[in-house]
Amino acid sequence: MSGLRRNKSAHLGAVAAESYPGAENDAPLIARTSSEVERLRSVVAQLMHTAAHDPLTGLLTRKLLLERLDEELARDAADGSKIAVLFVDLDNFKLVNDSLGHGSGDEVLSEMARRLSGCIGSDDTASRFGGDEMVVLHPRATDGSEVALGTRILTALAEPVFVSGKEVVVSASVGVALCTPGMKSAAQLLREADTALYAAKDRGRARLEPFSDELYERAEKRMQIESDLRAALREQQLFVEYQPQVRLRDGRVVGVEALVRWKHPKFGIVPPADFIPVAEDCGLIIGIGRLVLQKSCRQLADWTKLTPGRSLAMTVNVSPRQLSDPAFFTELRQVLADTGIDPTALCLEITESAMMSAPAEVIRLLDQITQLGIYIAIDDFGTEHSSLSRLRDMPAEVLKIDRSFVDGLGSETGDTAIVSSILSLAYAMGKHTIAEGVEKREQAALLLRMGCEVAQGYFFSRPVAAEQIPPLLTGALWQARSPRTQHSAPLTEAQVRRGHRYFIDEFLDHIGAPMGTKAPGAS
Ligand code: C2E
Ligand code: CA
Ligand code: CA
Repeated sequence: MSGLRRNKSAHLGAVAAESYPGAENDAPLIARTSSEVERLRSVVAQLMHTAAHDPLTGLLTRKLLLERLDEELARDAADGSKIAVLFVDLDNFKLVNDSLGHGSGDEVLSEMARRLSGCIGSDDTASRFGGDEMVVLHPRATDGSEVALGTRILTALAEPVFVSGKEVVVSASVGVALCTPGMKSAAQLLREADTALYAAKDRGRARLEPFSDELYERAEKRMQIESDLRAALREQQLFVEYQPQVRLRDGRVVGVEALVRWKHPKFGIVPPADFIPVAEDCGLIIGIGRLVLQKSCRQLADWTKLTPGRSLAMTVNVSPRQLSDPAFFTELRQVLADTGIDPTALCLEITESAMMSAPAEVIRLLDQITQLGIYIAIDDFGTEHSSLSRLRDMPAEVLKIDRSFVDGLGSETGDTAIVSSILSLAYAMGKHTIAEGVEKREQAALLLRMGCEVAQGYFFSRPVAAEQIPPLLTGALWQARSPRTQHSAPLTEAQVRRGHRYFIDEFLDHIGAPMGTKAPGAS
């Protein structure tokens, strides 16, 4: 296979047929009576069946399916039908195995295989390729019959299964590839079906995806990124930029967010959106995350030496993959020890979706992290409909309001209402707030009036190189404003009307002054 799905267990390969019924008392070499001939025949038949079928599911083995596929590909193409291969993979199988045990996993698998066999036609062959992967050969595809077959399989496999007295829903994803006899090799056709399956998983699972050239190009690009990224880590092509976070009530830079950048030797700066998802998928994010954490903490230590007595927070993005890495906590403590930074100056950002789907161990880990003094922020907040009780119990002190809501602030009533309710919620729960993606003066002003504490966005500054940060910390532009504005409660409507208007305008004039309008990554 193309090896695209790294998380999966290795394929089991063909089932060994070392033992078969009656093997211990082998028939004599030369059968003399007709009953002996019969017995020999039945032993041979059983032996052949065992060797050809997977013992758990009764489906054909991978080896036999490959042989049939080869035969079909070599056949005459005269009848105009095509050969289709459907790659079927269960979506939540690992979860079943982990939560209900392998015995239940086996039960689910054989039930799914039984349903799959019920969907196929008399010309078709179903096989188990290994683990929870099944392949169907549909050798006489006409008029989209392969899609109809795939859809039947999706529907049948999405029905609940009862195991150990529990109802379990395990959906499946299907990738389909098609060719005229003689046009492709078995390996190529299977690779294409696998690529399509990968796309089905990527696009939300429980769906069917036909192979296309576009998918092929995307898969190629992904693999290219993955291998280039390995080199990037080795050859230090990754670096970090920092985006200032501004306290709205006085305009001071109180923190920065560390954002990773990749200077590709051929393509120049590659945006994180193009490589972070690949890195998450193939596990490279663990190495990247470690690098960003080390670099940014060292950077914070340097800045602290430069401007003693000036507190600055360093915010670092952490992916869910890192949180399930058993070494993460030790490494985090090591970084604190090595750099000597104040743990309360470090904030780890975890997206709302990762936070809400985090298993109990991860929540316990986050608890331990906050006990070190480190802050946890929920990134992209508002995009995932967090349950309030879950939010209350989360060890996170900061809500980072997603850019999509800040975007329509003041112009879209819906967005303004969402931002306002997130701010009230945060205030009621005693959590801090940061608004991200502030691009306009009016948005900053409105956020200040609505009681948001800190904001970040192109209006204040793009992410910049480390050298550009110190002047922003000490320069007159960001120095504390007059003492009468040094209160931390949100400004009320009345206060704004009673003269604070003046301060806000003055402050906005200051922060509106150019702070570097470089595009991210430009040198
Ligand atoms: P994010 O964590 O939501 O980071 C904010 C992104 O919004 C950054 O994009 C930033 O440059 C951009 N941004 C900031 N202000 C504005 C604005 O006013 N308008 C607009 N349109 N955009 C603004 P960037 O640097 O391209 O990062 C994209 C995403 O990549 C990040 O989203 C984060 O999810 C991920 N990422 C970046 N660095 C790391 C990292 O070190 N580790 C992990 N796990 N993810 C990272
Ligand atoms: Ca972030
Ligand atoms: Ca964000």
